[in-house]
Amino acid sequence: MPPAALLLLCPLAAALSGRFWHLTDLHWDPGYEAAAASGRLCPSGGSRAGAAAGPWGSYLCDAPWRLLASAARAMASRLPRPDFVLWTGDDTPHVPDEDLGEEKVLHIIGNLTSLIKETFPDTKVYAAMGNHDFHPKNQFPGKEHRIYERTAELWRPWLNDASVPLFRAGAFYSEKLPSTSGRMVVLNTNLYYDQNAETAGEEDPGGQFQWLEETLTNASRADEMVYIVGHIPPGFFEKKRGKPWFRSGFNERYLRIVQKHHRVIAAQFFGHHHTDSFRMFYSDTGSPINVMFLAPGVTPWKTTLPGVVNGANNPGIRVIEYDPDTLRVLDMVTYYLNLTRANMVASAGTEEVPAWEEEYRLTDAFQVPDGSAPSMQVVLERISTEPRYLQRYYEFNSVSYDLTPCEEACRVDHVCAIREVDFTKYNRCVKARSPASAISSVCFLFFCLLLGLLGPQQALS
Ligand SMILES: [Zn+2]
Ligand SMILES: [Zn+2]
Repeated sequence: MPPAALLLLCPLAAALSGRFWHLTDLHWDPGYEAAAASGRLCPSGGSRAGAAAGPWGSYLCDAPWRLLASAARAMASRLPRPDFVLWTGDDTPHVPDEDLGEEKVLHIIGNLTSLIKETFPDTKVYAAMGNHDFHPKNQFPGKEHRIYERTAELWRPWLNDASVPLFRAGAFYSEKLPSTSGRMVVLNTNLYYDQNAETAGEEDPGGQFQWLEETLTNASRADEMVYIVGHIPPGFFEKKRGKPWFRSGFNERYLRIVQKHHRVIAAQFFGHHHTDSFRMFYSDTGSPINVMFLAPGVTPWKTTLPGVVNGANNPGIRVIEYDPDTLRVLDMVTYYLNLTRANMVASAGTEEVPAWEEEYRLTDAFQVPDGSAPSMQVVLERISTEPRYLQRYYEFNSVSYDLTPCEEACRVDHVCAIREVDFTKYNRCVKARSPASAISSVCFLFFCLLLGLLGPQQALS
């Protein structure tokens, strides 16, 4: 019986579930409209040549204000009173540091903060900083900084008193979740980014790892379940083979903490990829113990990362349904704007406001009972072994933008990125599944046979 039918039979179950929004990577490009009006491509388009920028955005560009306002309206109409909102950062456009500066970065964070505040006036928002929410970008220090202080001021209405000094000292904090027995942990994983020169030689920048361990230990004592939220995830980018974000030591430490404390971690929610994916965490014996959901971005911006082919996406936003007692993820619904269609409709002049549509519901699309770690392991197995599920996942990965077939190399990239957050295991996974390794195994087998036939003495000579 599908879960929706169960809920109809049991209205109590529906009443007991909670819902929250997760939005990420808004990347507002304030220069979009002026550039479009004078026939130029947006500042975030760089030197790329492209079609004229549409009124709702362009796949080569970060988001015009009109797109962000439309996402906010879509959220307000679909679910105006969520239990809370997760906002996992990256507010500024992909332009050189010289074109931004500290004041401009803070101005952009301020405007997006206001937009979210106006959309959800009485709702708790858990906000995390993205690697673009700093000047110079990525260079987050593990100690007090003016930008942390100013951001804490902007987010003051959302922060508890105890969170403010913590935020000022390193942009991470933890608070009890409203109307649940759970806790939210918001991390500043920009401290672990390999592009961050400020924290390069440090063992535990900002003391965040130690703080995280203590927070999880205390949660366990208090019988609280925890959601971990952040911007840059550990592990690898599924659209570029061998591309991690964390420095290797930081990646290892994060993984060890999740393994040690997995019993209190109900789920993890991150952004940064702009794509829709997830990451599995396993015990030493290989049981699935945790899952991290990577939410798609609102910006459609096609990445300029070398080696990624056609890395744009449709704008996406997401509702997570959860059990307030256990924080178990019950389901996840992703909404999106088909940007091509929205711009076409606008140019035909038939409709003023484009419609954000439901893209998919996790339990329906992948035929699983919920979004728990064991269920997401089933999703991963289906993606690995059944081509129709792989293709479905692949189309959702770019928020229904790239509908080309995901073939063998693509399957390896996605499956290994989802399965292996650990650097060594990821490399092993990619090697074991690539055709070159299949050929070399055949050669090795042939060599062994030859050794066997010739005997040890001849072979050594
Ligand atoms: Zn981003
Ligand atoms: Zn980012």
